[in-house]
Amino acid sequence: MSPKPADAPLFTVLRLSTAMRKELANVAEFTDQQLSHYLDEALPSDLMAAVENALRSDRPLRERLIAIAERREAGVHTLGDIWRRNRLSCPTREELGSFILDTLDDDVSDYVRFHLETIGCRICEANLADLRQQQATNEEASQTRRQRFFQTSAGLLKRHR
Ligand SMILES: [Zn+2]
Repeated sequence: MSPKPADAPLFTVLRLSTAMRKELANVAEFTDQQLSHYLDEALPSDLMAAVENALRSDRPLRERLIAIAERREAGVHTLGDIWRRNRLSCPTREELGSFILDTLDDDVSDYVRFHLETIGCRICEANLADLRQQQATNEEASQTRRQRFFQTSAGLLKRHR
């Protein structure tokens, strides 16, 4: 069995402080509390970046973050909380999907952009990243199908010559 890739190179690349390295080493899995703080943008910036980075490639983590955000009912302390509590302000997943495909009406599309860029809603951001990855996966699959189709057709043409 090949050895597990060492953690050291990643830490070197990230140029993290010793304390941060220790913290990161402890949280190969981020805790719910850390994710909750992430939603509040209340983590140290290195850790914010680490979570953000992990969210890009880690679908289960995104799902956890969304679940945590949805579970948080208590205490409205920040503007972000108010936005999150009032989930009506969040576009639906369908709307986010249409937003990616650029098939929304202009005013709806403007609102989604405002919601993402100005409000910086992290729930929708996570949802959007998830949808984008799904779309990329679907595209890959259909490309493979298309390729297989052309290969088959080419084979048939040759045979008929
Ligand atoms: Zn939102």
